[in-house]
Amino acid sequence: MMIADLILREHHLSTLQAELLRADGKEHAAYVIFGISRIGADPFTHQPRLRVMVKDVFAVNDDEIKSSDHQHISWSTERFVQLLARAEREGLQLGIAHSHPAGPTHFSAQDDANEAELIRLSQNRNGADAILPSLLFAGEGFAAGRVWLSPTSFINLGSARTVSSSWRTISFDQEGSVENRALARQDLALGPEFNQAMRHLRVGVVGAGGTGSPLLQQIARMGAGYIAIFDPDYVEHSNLNRLYGATMMDADQGNKKVDVARREIDRMGLGTSVATFDAWIGSPACRDALKSMDLIFGCTDDHDGRSLLNRLAYYYLIPVIDIGLALRVTERHGLTCLEADGRATVLEPGCACLLCRRIVDAGVAAEEALRRNDPVEYERRKVEAYVRGEGNPSPAVISFTTSVATMAVEEMIQRMNRFRGVDGDIANRVRKFNMAEDFRPGAKKEPCRVCGSDRVHGIGDVQPFLGRAG
Ligand SMILES: [Zn+2]
Ligand SMILES: [Zn+2]
Repeated sequence: MMIADLILREHHLSTLQAELLRADGKEHAAYVIFGISRIGADPFTHQPRLRVMVKDVFAVNDDEIKSSDHQHISWSTERFVQLLARAEREGLQLGIAHSHPAGPTHFSAQDDANEAELIRLSQNRNGADAILPSLLFAGEGFAAGRVWLSPTSFINLGSARTVSSSWRTISFDQEGSVENRALARQDLALGPEFNQAMRHLRVGVVGAGGTGSPLLQQIARMGAGYIAIFDPDYVEHSNLNRLYGATMMDADQGNKKVDVARREIDRMGLGTSVATFDAWIGSPACRDALKSMDLIFGCTDDHDGRSLLNRLAYYYLIPVIDIGLALRVTERHGLTCLEADGRATVLEPGCACLLCRRIVDAGVAAEEALRRNDPVEYERRKVEAYVRGEGNPSPAVISFTTSVATMAVEEMIQRMNRFRGVDGDIANRVRKFNMAEDFRPGAKKEPCRVCGSDRVHGIGDVQPFLGRAG
């Protein structure tokens, strides 16, 4: 069975609430432009999914309303048709939102009839692929949602989630909370809502190595219901100083890092569903899984992988917390010094991206892509010193890799629970371990087209995927 969900930015939710639930107590309506993400198979249910992302909200003006009271509204569809043209031009979908200020908290028979007419209009104008998302606000807020696929069929939204600073989940499925003894102490600290949200969250972890493995240990024990792990690498002996769960035998046998990670989470017995992908995240095999995530931790060292996640965050409104660690041993006045910098960076609309923070190097990313796609040409250029080559193995210590993973998990808690207060978000935190201090470096003043332009935020599926050539 197809399932559907919605992601919207916090400010769009506030706009919808303000427009639809006004003090006059009457029904109101709005047009909503959506980006769409079609998922062939969810990595956990293996069922197709549909995800819609809010891009724009337009209130239906008073002069378009034919009649309205506390339990009905009817309005001219002239602007609906105009917006259909825009949606078609930009590869987007047009939907509606309306309110039942005095209830009911479900769609009425009149809504069914009206919306069937609107989807008929959409498909006549924009083709059989056009869909019609419809959102209902009642009482205090968001009450229900559905996506019409044809004049005779729709799927209900299972949940709506907010991004851009505050990450909240609004669940439309009526299911009671399940008491979990393993999470009782966490419940005391972060509240039952946090545990409930973790249970539903689909968390992706890209990279199951030095920083990914401590992160996986933490989020699994925090009650994450669904974890997808992406890593093409095998356990090596040089990983054993920091890879949680990995044994000498794993290195001797060359076991996959994703298999070690899955084994460790399964052994906890906390009921986590785990999906693993032993491929580079840019390969088509990973695409549906990445698009199915609610939150992704980027624990990879490769610039090309990072630049893909960087776009994914803005195109699909899937927040990414990217982490990195740089250890350098230097000589100063004849003394050997260890410099250790850890970083956790949040990527989502409202935050500067990795390119604008000069964390991803586009040149190195291109070389990595070349190495993967055309190894012969890559070797030729390496000989001629046109590419930098892989370089020496970097130093690594488990205390630092674990600490940087913890910085990322703390940022997730902040966005879900606000334990540092509403102004406590830290989009980019750098910890200088040898100074025992944290810094918050800024970004370029002129943001790029990915993080700085509203156009791609929540645009969803485009050709090519994420607008990336090759
Ligand atoms: Zn209604
Ligand atoms: Zn940017």
